[in-house]
Amino acid sequence: MKIIALLGAPGSGKGTQAKKLSQSGICFHLSTGDTLRGAIKDGTEIGLRAKTLMDRGELVPDSVMIEMVECCLGTLPDSMSVLLDGFPRTVPQAKALDLRLRTTVHLAVYFKMHEQDLVLRLTGRQTCERCGEPYHISFVPPLKQDLCDRCGGNLIQRSDDMEAVVRQRLRVFATQNEALLSYYEKTKRLIEVDAGLPVATLQSNLQRMLSEWLT
Ligand code: AMP
Repeated sequence: MKIIALLGAPGSGKGTQAKKLSQSGICFHLSTGDTLRGAIKDGTEIGLRAKTLMDRGELVPDSVMIEMVECCLGTLPDSMSVLLDGFPRTVPQAKALDLRLRTTVHLAVYFKMHEQDLVLRLTGRQTCERCGEPYHISFVPPLKQDLCDRCGGNLIQRSDDMEAVVRQRLRVFATQNEALLSYYEKTKRLIEVDAGLPVATLQSNLQRMLSEWLT
C-alpha cells in the first residue's frame, strides 16, 4: 500500500485537492476530519468523545486517532494507494504510521500558505452536506446561493469554521507543524507546494507530481 500524507494548516486546501485527485480513481481519500464528523453523526463512542474537542478547535488524542486510522486502512486492499488528509498531525502519529501501522508514508506533501489567507478561506468555506463538494462564499461560490451545483444538496458551514475556533485550530497547528515537517524532512520524504495557487493550477501540478507515486 502506497501512502501519501497531505500536511498543512486547516484551510490550506488538502481536502479539496484530495477529493479531486481521488475522483480520478487513482487513489483513495482518507480524511480523518470527515471520518470523525461521520462518527459524530452516527453517535458512536469515538464521535461523542471527539465532538467537544473538535468544537473547541483542539486535537483528538493520538491514541484515538491512531486506532481509527489503523482500522480504516485495514479495510482497504493492499494494492490501493491512499491520500491521507489530516493525519498525521503530530510526530507520535507520524511515528505510529511508520512503526505500528502496517504501512509507512512514502511521501509527505506540505501545503504552505500564509495565516491571514487561511482565516479568510476557512471562515468563508461551505460544503455540500450530501456529496461533500467544497465551495467558498467569495472564491468558489455556487451558482445558486447555499445549493450545490453538482447535486443540489444544501451547503453548510462547519461549526469549527467560525472565526474564534479557526484561530484556535491555527494555534494548535502551529505548535505541531515544525516538528512534523522536520520528521519527514530528516527522512527525505517531504515536498512542499504553494497552496495559494488557484485550485485548478495546484491540482494539475499535484497530478503531475504524484502520478508516479500513485500508480
Ligand atoms: P479537519 O477536518 O482535518 O480540519 O479536522 C477537524 C478536526 O478533527 C480537527 O480540528 C481535530 O479536532 C480533529 N482531527 C482530525 N484529524 C486529527 C488528527 N490526525 N489528530 C487529532 N485530531 C484530529
